[in-house]
Amino acid sequence: MTDRYAVIGNPIVQSKSPLIHSAFAQVTGQDIDYGKLLGPLGEFAATVDAFRAAGGRGMNVTAPFKLDAFAYATDLAPSAQMAGAVNAMKFEGDRVYVENFDGVGLVRDVLHNLGCPLQGRRVLILGAGGATRGALLPLLVEQPAELVIVNRTVAKAQELAALAQQHQTGQVPVSGLSYDAVQGAFDVVFNATSSSLTAELPPLPGSVFAPGCLAYDLTYGKGLTPFLQLAQQAGVNRLADGVGMLAEQAAEAFAWWRGVRPDTAAVIAQLTVPLV
Ligand code: NDP
Repeated sequence: MTDRYAVIGNPIVQSKSPLIHSAFAQVTGQDIDYGKLLGPLGEFAATVDAFRAAGGRGMNVTAPFKLDAFAYATDLAPSAQMAGAVNAMKFEGDRVYVENFDGVGLVRDVLHNLGCPLQGRRVLILGAGGATRGALLPLLVEQPAELVIVNRTVAKAQELAALAQQHQTGQVPVSGLSYDAVQGAFDVVFNATSSSLTAELPPLPGSVFAPGCLAYDLTYGKGLTPFLQLAQQAGVNRLADGVGMLAEQAAEAFAWWRGVRPDTAAVIAQLTVPLV
């Protein structure tokens, strides 16, 4: 019997998840149907209830429902607890298991697809929203030399730095700063702000990029964003956007649901927009 999955959001027309999961199902021989569900605002629980009643087995969750899914869960994985948000749900009887695979997807893309180790490196992450929050623990597990979070609203960066210090098992120094307080050069710089969605540039000096640095914009499908342009002008030649992260978080969810992890290379190639 075909098992049903879906991504829920509002809007949802832009979602690449059905394309990705259908490709994964094809290469792994899994019999699933994966659709898009436009969730009416304020009716998340009722919409998911109906999907489950019709036999739905799991869902991805996108804006604006990541916090609603957190509240709907019966069993929160540590990744969802730390992120304070959910991007994947699995339904088993009365239980609603939830995860947040964004952070692990990001780290897997950097380590395995881009071949860039994080251990012992100075890492800078711009932004202190949901994406940064979800990435903190997976990044710290890799034992960078230092993790610096900068944000326009500095209090949010400081709050996330304190949270990370509290939850990490290692001894990685983590700090939360304003843009004008950032000092020195970094081996990996992530843009986890939403600035690239509106073609804006966080107020970042080009001097933050160390020689041989990886500049990674979590936003995907926008080509050479102002952040990546800044890095390029500063001499960086290792540039990446978030398409690999998108594919890897999806592969994590697929493996969690189906017990088989698909290879992501074909999907990444299909969705890649050249960085020009
Ligand atoms: P949030 O809305 O939770 O946070 C947005 C962050 O961006 C805040 O820290 C905000 O700062 C900052 N910001 C927004 N505009 C600017 C600007 N012009 N200059 C400087 N800072 C700015 O968003 P998310 O964390 O959920 O997502 C961030 C980005 O990551 C998005 O572009 C999203 O598409 C991408 N993403 C990619 C994924 C992938 O799979 N590749 C997965 C998840 C997210 P302040 O707090 O001061 O307002």
